[in-house]
Parts: sequence; structure tokens; C-alpha cells
Amino acid sequence: MTRRDELAANLAAVRARIDAACTAAGRAPGEVGLVVVTKYFPAADVRLLADLGVGEVGENKHQEASAKAAECADLGLSWHFIGSIQSNKAAAVARYADVVESVDRVKLVHGLSRGAEESGRVVDCLVQVSLDAGADSGPSHGRGGADPAEVGALADAIAAAPALRLAGLMAVAPLGEPAAPAFARLAEIASRLRADHPGATVLSAGMSGDLEDAVKFGATHVRVGSAVLGPRPLVQ
Ligand SMILES: *Cc1c(COP(=O)(O)O)cnc(C)c1O
Repeated sequence: MTRRDELAANLAAVRARIDAACTAAGRAPGEVGLVVVTKYFPAADVRLLADLGVGEVGENKHQEASAKAAECADLGLSWHFIGSIQSNKAAAVARYADVVESVDRVKLVHGLSRGAEESGRVVDCLVQVSLDAGADSGPSHGRGGADPAEVGALADAIAAAPALRLAGLMAVAPLGEPAAPAFARLAEIASRLRADHPGATVLSAGMSGDLEDAVKFGATHVRVGSAVLGPRPLVQ
């Protein structure tokens, strides 16, 4: 089996899972977009994925993402940045990312907008919200993201930035707790956000292990890595 055949088979299986989850949730199949997370995998795989009809890819490390986006610039893909962002790298990320899914603090907004403006584009941004339940789940313990209480102010800051568009929310299910109740909390946060910002309709949630739960609770995009590309190399 060639790598292309392997990716094609995995993609078909993931798309079938998404369609089945939509049907189970009473949603129209095709309503949920697939972002294939290509972190740690080579540009050659990105090329094969594009050829297999993938239009959106996700990366979580600035250096790797920027190199891969440059190497694959001819493919017309939409690049989603999904990793934590150092403040001094925000402008650089916004120069190649089409969607920045991991905006988790107001401090990033100015740099992101400047990078977007310098590259002559408007960049879509998602507020990454933390779904960690525990009181002591600070950034070092949890999986990143703004506290739900901070989402409104962060969303307002993005919406006010000249070269950014507030597109919606992103979240990762917490560790050590079932995903479904966390995604139910996320759906409530999303509906509150949409009351203030009707255009913020994107809800990016769900990965290889929990995409069905995310679709059930309203995800408009799932971010799937290992179920498409295989296990990531152990040395990251
Ligand atoms: C790596 C990653 C994913 C994909 O995870 P898989 O379990 O491999 O599908 C999704 N979202 C974020 C934020 C990630 O870092």
C-alpha cells in the first residue's frame, strides 16, 4: 500500500465517521468541516492530502508551520494555526495563517492584527477557551485556552482589531474527564458569544478520539490528526 492509498483510506474512514455523527445528531452530512492536523508530518504528506481533496490543514508549532506553508504555497490550502502562540511570534503567525484558532489572551491581538495587515489580508481568529473544570487548572496543568469568563473581552478585542475577523471559538476536551459534558459547556459558551457577535459561527472542537461528541454538541469544524496520518513520531 502506498502512502497515498493509506491516507486516502484513512480520510474516507474519518469522513464516514463525521457523516455518521451528523446523521446521529440530526445534522446534515457535510455540515462539519474537516481540518487535517499535519503537525510532525512532512510537506510531502500535505501535498498528497491536497491531491486527495483536503482543503484545510492545521499546525501547532510556528517554525514548522511557517516552513511547511511556504513549501506548500502552490497548493491553495487554508492554514489553521492551532498551537500556543508566544507573544513575540504573533505577527509572524498571522503572516501565513489563514485562521488562527488558538487566540487565548488579549496580549496577542495587536501582533496578530499587525502581521495580517502587513501581509495585506484579514485573518480569521477563534478564541480558544479552556474547558478544564478544576479550580487549579492553570495554563501549566490544563490544555490551554482562556478562562470562559474572559471570552467576552477577548472576543471584543479581536472584533475591534482592523485586520482580524472574529470567526468563533476553539476548544480541546480536557484530560481525565469525559468529552461530552465538556463539549456541552462549550456549546453554551458558543451560544453566549453568538448573542454578542452573530458572525462568530465557527465552533472548532473534536479530534481523532472524540469527534463524535463534538459533532453532537455543535462543532462546525473538527481537527483530526492521527486518525488520518497515523500515530505521530514519539520524539516531538
Ligand atoms: C494535535 C492536535 C489535534 C489533533 O489530534 P489527534 O488526536 O491526532 O486527532 C487537534 N487539535 C489540537 C489543538 C492539536 O494540538
